[in-house]
Amino acid sequence: MNFSLQNITRKNIRSLQPYSSARDEYTGEASVFLDANENPFNAPYNRYPDPRQVALKNQLGKIKKISPDRIFLGNGSDEPIDLLFRAFCEPGTDNVVAISPTYGMYRVAADINNIAYREVLLEEDFSLNADKILEATDSATKLIFLCSPNNPTGNALNQMEVLKIISNFNGLVVLDEAYIDFCPEKTLLANLEQYPNLVILQTLSKAWGLAAIRLGMAFASPEIIAILSKIKYPYNINLLTQEKALKMLQLEEQKVKWVENILQQKDILAKELIKLPIVLKLFPSDANFILVKTVAAKKIYQELVERQIIVRDRSKVALCGESLRITVGTAAENELLIKALKEIWSNWIIQ
Ligand SMILES: *Cc1c(COP(=O)(O)O)cnc(C)c1O
Repeated sequence: MNFSLQNITRKNIRSLQPYSSARDEYTGEASVFLDANENPFNAPYNRYPDPRQVALKNQLGKIKKISPDRIFLGNGSDEPIDLLFRAFCEPGTDNVVAISPTYGMYRVAADINNIAYREVLLEEDFSLNADKILEATDSATKLIFLCSPNNPTGNALNQMEVLKIISNFNGLVVLDEAYIDFCPEKTLLANLEQYPNLVILQTLSKAWGLAAIRLGMAFASPEIIAILSKIKYPYNINLLTQEKALKMLQLEEQKVKWVENILQQKDILAKELIKLPIVLKLFPSDANFILVKTVAAKKIYQELVERQIIVRDRSKVALCGESLRITVGTAAENELLIKALKEIWSNWIIQ
């Protein structure tokens, strides 16, 4: 491998002088703040939040066993995804490679930034072939997007194949681990120091139960984190989000219990689903959802909507013909789904 962060960073970003906020310009202790044109009343919401999110990064560093200077926090995972394009991909010239099917935001961010998006189909069983990915790259490929466990397929990607890609690519490999809490043994977080071209994405939106507060994380070398931090909006993580995240991170046992519950419910749901005549196949899942091949995805989706139950119709997605993606809910919610699916089937055979 011949990776150089300098070489893959856009020229304008390399020479960028970032915005310097009032709170960035002094060091040491302070008690009277007359520097940022804030209102002196209505504490604590009158003050700008910490632009470097020091307390939150320290707490996350402990939980993730990683140095805080390897952490970037964003307004959801969407923010680091977009910033990676803006930092490393020259519009109209560069390209990225991604597995297919996968999470839709990578393509949207590529399109917004006018970066060519090359898709490489996974195998029929949704496994990853490193050589196919590497063959799709050329000298203008700056990023490779992998997602493990993958959305919408649910499977974790083979680690040897992932590492093969990282070791043989001169750009950045972005590994999205949004669902990693549901199969924690498979994270590559501990391998970060070994791979200067690896960026791992995680989020508080799934296992931590905090989709509403919008907190996404990118883990990478301190040099990559410094570039992302340089180009982010100065106060990208608001005070309410920082406070709520800090509180929740102190309740890690709660998250662990939720994950156990969801995984138990996933097994129960899978056993019920596979009994149904309208279900042809369940794809193995390492996440909190199951991709389900049915006899008629669109029709089932519509009839579930009429019963006020919403699942995700993925039947138009590559390799996902007639498939629905079903998130694992509470025991009661899952039972309602199974009951509705049974009703839908019996109505069909009566007609
Ligand atoms: C849900 C999900 C995310 C989370 O996105 P946020 O913006 O952090 O809420 C990221 N990646 C994948 C693959 C997802 O499915």
